[in-house]
Amino acid sequence: MSMSKRKEEELATQSPARARDQSNYSGPTFASPPHHLRKAFFEFAKDGGRPEDFFAVSNGRLSKQEPYIIIAEFKIPIKKRLDGEYIPCANCRPGSGKFLEGRWIYAPRLRRTFLIGRDCADKSVSAAASREFRNRMTYTAALENLVAILPLLPQMIAALDAARPAATGADRLVAKLRRDAGPLIRTLAATLKQHGEYLIVFDDEVVVQAGRRMNKPIRVGMLPGATLALQVPLAFERQLQHLRVLFNALNDAGEAPTVKERLGRLSVQEVLQMEKALKKSERQALQFLQNIDAIRRFFSPATMRDLQKWGEDPRNTHRTIVTEEQGSWSISDVAGSDVLIPTWPALQNFKMSWPRQPI
Ligand SMILES: [Zn+2]
Repeated sequence: MSMSKRKEEELATQSPARARDQSNYSGPTFASPPHHLRKAFFEFAKDGGRPEDFFAVSNGRLSKQEPYIIIAEFKIPIKKRLDGEYIPCANCRPGSGKFLEGRWIYAPRLRRTFLIGRDCADKSVSAAASREFRNRMTYTAALENLVAILPLLPQMIAALDAARPAATGADRLVAKLRRDAGPLIRTLAATLKQHGEYLIVFDDEVVVQAGRRMNKPIRVGMLPGATLALQVPLAFERQLQHLRVLFNALNDAGEAPTVKERLGRLSVQEVLQMEKALKKSERQALQFLQNIDAIRRFFSPATMRDLQKWGEDPRNTHRTIVTEEQGSWSISDVAGSDVLIPTWPALQNFKMSWPRQPI
């Protein structure tokens, strides 16, 4: 064993504070990458702009062929460097400035951490480290997401169940409208395409819009949720059934003595797949709830009153009679629409709720 090697090993067994007194001390050693220091490292680097002074970083030279693991990637703005010098790179020339965008790395064979410029190591060493880092970060993020979301699954299932009466109401009201008010729907769908979710009548005044002359469109009311209610095929009860099955399956998969324990038994691939499935299901569930809410707004008294105003407007060529009868709305026109929309309290009282901030 060489003299310097023995010295290194001796130093490694000493506390960092004592070891630092030694003249050729080059930083503490670690049996595994000190990931737990990532946060402290970032804070240190952000505060002083001098990551090379972080206590866990070695100041020696590192061969460009030495395999390494990335602990952190960072970029220091030059204005943070009070001396205006770049950060020294262990790969190129320890002791003199070389980079601003680099990596804090761990060399497993040397059991030390170093700072190097982003692409300073040999290409294959650098590429292997990048690949491993990307995979590890993806996996860690997925794991963190799962640990945060899995315990909320019973609440998510409860939120879906709470939407069931509203979903039933939405399905029935939309079906009734589509069955009994064909002419009205065709008229509204046409203006919907051109003007969005507004109730429009046309004035005598002629204007040029999108290059053609037309009677000036006047908005007399809003029709929130109309795109869904009039144009998109709906089946809320079936959607709910589907979501319920999805969330139950995810819940079963996440059940265990503890979530973390259970996740620890899964392969990397399984963790990534589970997180993907969970994210997708959550997006679907939120879209489902938003759609029910849109239908709630469509069948609200406010929208029905706008429809009434529009139907009675003398400029409206599609005269429509909307009347309120004991909370129900009767809609009819000369073209043959004739529908009675009953109030559906469960739909009107529907409030969107989800146990966490949507992703
Ligand atoms: Zn370098």
